[in-house]
Amino acid sequence: MRLASPARLASLVAESMGSGMTAPVQTDRVRKPDWIRVKAPTSVGFAETKALMRRLSLNTVCEEAACPNIGECWTKKHATVMILGDVCTRACAFCNVKTGMPRKVDTNEPQHVADAAAELGLKHIVITSVDRDDLPDGGASQFVKVIEALRRTTPETTIEILTPDFRNKMEKAVESIVAARPDVYNHNLETVPRLYPTIRPGARYYASLRLLETVKRHDPSIFTKSGIMVGLGEQRLEVHQVMDDMRSADIDFLTIGQYLQPTPKHAKVMDFVTPQTFDAYAAIARAKGFLLVASSPLTRSSYHADRDFALMQQARATQLANAKA
Ligand code: SF4
Repeated sequence: MRLASPARLASLVAESMGSGMTAPVQTDRVRKPDWIRVKAPTSVGFAETKALMRRLSLNTVCEEAACPNIGECWTKKHATVMILGDVCTRACAFCNVKTGMPRKVDTNEPQHVADAAAELGLKHIVITSVDRDDLPDGGASQFVKVIEALRRTTPETTIEILTPDFRNKMEKAVESIVAARPDVYNHNLETVPRLYPTIRPGARYYASLRLLETVKRHDPSIFTKSGIMVGLGEQRLEVHQVMDDMRSADIDFLTIGQYLQPTPKHAKVMDFVTPQTFDAYAAIARAKGFLLVASSPLTRSSYHADRDFALMQQARATQLANAKA
């Protein structure tokens, strides 16, 4: 990977610090800027995806997180399945998923996920979960069973997992999941470390970084991916520092998207970051050496994940070819 020269990097940072690049929010109820609005989902594909998820009793983060891209993704029959139930043991200030005591793990779920991937004809699937601090392994074995069911049922489908941090049981959990060989391992840092106590109080920034580093240490061939939301009150230089921390952990793919407040009870949007600022973040991240960067107001971890997986493979092939030349 060719990194930008220090002078080029300094000039990108200076450009990104220019004025007028965010739309500050001063009131409680604000109209979203034009670049955030999306159409209501009405397509046949949307209805079919929804019916399939209901029939197989699967939860999706698309619905639970009230994702703005659901109309576009489900029309194309791309859904991100959320395993281990729809109740989370944490209460992050940005997240719309219910908090409480989760139900028993559904033993049919791994095969149902695989059946959904087969019926939807997915080339690439993203699987995530709620936090399950109540389970001895944090839910790691369910991720492994889902990967195994997918490999049996639809071997051509590439697999991306987006896991929780497996607090206090990370090493064993990651080791078992990596041994099942997903194609992409994603774990989101979500925000800058200064905002963790209010935004992600149950988690530790450096523990999350260590998780991603552990994946690479066990199997460098697995692509690692992480993302943050912006608009929560972070400073630009803090975002740049997160990028440096991610590169130190050898993370391949960075996603940056606008935080949107799911309900008035959740953390407020502090500013709507403009598309120009997202572009500036992307330029800086590329200069810092990420294999791939997705940075736009509507970027989410799983948005266009199939296309981005193909791009990541190409980027790695080019990198290897350049290293040999
Ligand atoms: S971006 Fe991800 S979470 Fe949102 S609708 Fe698309 S697949 Fe679902």
